[in-house]
Amino acid sequence: MKNIENMNVAVIGGGYAGMAAAVALAKRGIPVTVFESARQLGGRARGVSHRNTQLDNGQHLLLGCYKETLGLIEQVGGNLEQDFLRQPLQLDLHGHFALKAPHLPAPLHLLAALLRAQGLTWAERISAARFMLTLRRMNFKLDSDITVTELLARHRQSTALVQKLWEPLCIAALNTPVAIASARVLLNVLRDALNQKRADSDMLIPRIDFTALLPERAANYVIKHGGHVLTSCGVENLRPLENGMEITTKRGSMTFSHIICATPPTTAAKLLRPITGLDDVITQIDALQHQPIYTVYLQYPAHVRLPHPMLGLHQRISQWLFDKGQIAAQHGLIASVISAEGLHQDLSQHELAQRVIAELRDEFGITDSPLWFKVIAEKRATFACTPDLTRPNQQTPLPCLLLAGDYTMGDYPATLEGAVQSGLRCAELLSV
Ligand SMILES: Cc1cc2nc3c(=O)[nH]c(=O)nc-3n(C[C@H](O)[C@H](O)[C@H](O)COP(=O)(O)OP(=O)(O)OC[C@H]3O[C@@H](n4cnc5c(N)ncnc54)[C@H](O)[C@@H]3O)c2cc1C
Repeated sequence: MKNIENMNVAVIGGGYAGMAAAVALAKRGIPVTVFESARQLGGRARGVSHRNTQLDNGQHLLLGCYKETLGLIEQVGGNLEQDFLRQPLQLDLHGHFALKAPHLPAPLHLLAALLRAQGLTWAERISAARFMLTLRRMNFKLDSDITVTELLARHRQSTALVQKLWEPLCIAALNTPVAIASARVLLNVLRDALNQKRADSDMLIPRIDFTALLPERAANYVIKHGGHVLTSCGVENLRPLENGMEITTKRGSMTFSHIICATPPTTAAKLLRPITGLDDVITQIDALQHQPIYTVYLQYPAHVRLPHPMLGLHQRISQWLFDKGQIAAQHGLIASVISAEGLHQDLSQHELAQRVIAELRDEFGITDSPLWFKVIAEKRATFACTPDLTRPNQQTPLPCLLLAGDYTMGDYPATLEGAVQSGLRCAELLSV
């Protein structure tokens, strides 16, 4: 156990990674100060207010296997029953494909779901179920990493299976197109979501915004345990000292025994670049590519609703649709999510919204005009999760500097769970 008496830790960045680290440190009685450049906490998972309506920067989905994130939400006072609409695993591509896990223990629930899936031939259903059994026999491990496309071809998954099942799953999980996505990382997610308990594959859709869900509660927890959370207080410079590091913000300079840098990767590279001894870390961060996520919010009259709270569209611009009326009593509010790179990026926001409106009219006969729309384009939503990516370790060559964030070393793609795991790991490295 480290001597925590002389420790005083700064966490740079109040997203899910940074707040996870801060809570874990505060819980252990280690003095901690969070520096967040934005006015609000949450980073890439934050609440956004528009026309008196509470939105998020993008609709997110959690899985039942996101144990660290769900545990942390409860630790800081959340109530999972109230905070989420929880549904058993189901994928519905309106009119083209439907899969719903029955009430059976895992992995039987998945095998039964695949064998009963609508929109596939019998041969395709058996081929998908056989593929899952093979992955289970392989312990969801690969000797060497390949793309998801290569993995699916190796296991003879048909074009229909790829387009209706594996591609939507891969994009939802990795935010990276199958042709360049890492099969190894996808298998990590499938291993945790599909293989152990049925509840691990549950889909949890938040009823409250993402700043309220965790970061705000985490900040209250940190403050209650003697820590500090400073918003609108971006860190501009880091300077290593003999026993720690100096942080400079617009408000002045402060020294800390340790720093956890929990900013997005590009900002981390900017802060770390002037410091000697971190060349390898910077090279790894610089090599990361990024993928976008666009969310189109449409506020229709309150009577407009979709057949399900969440459903997908097949071969359309909108990949997933969320009916916020059924999820959070925001009646008539529909979110269309478009993950990963694609031709939609060439459209103006107005053109994109019109395309989504036309899709909703064609698919569901929604002829009402929306009262307003809001497009939120997160151009660097996640790192591109490609095969054999070398992600920077949380521990850097400088003992007083650690890195947290969804892009740092871990089993998961860029997800809330990956971010939270990295923050908890940093706190653990500092306290054991
Ligand atoms: C639209 C969208 C949809 C997504 N959907 C899902 C989903 O369905 N499920 C899922 O699990 N994941 C999803 N993700 C991914 C998930 O949101 C991220 O993986 C996660 O939020 C990353 O958290 P983080 O703490 O690592 O980084 P960030 O959230 O980026 O946090 C970094 C923080 O550092 C702050 N900062 C930056 N520079 C400075 C500075 N100089 N000084 C101080 N602070 C600074 C930033 O303002 C930010 O608050 C989605 C992401 C987006 C954008």
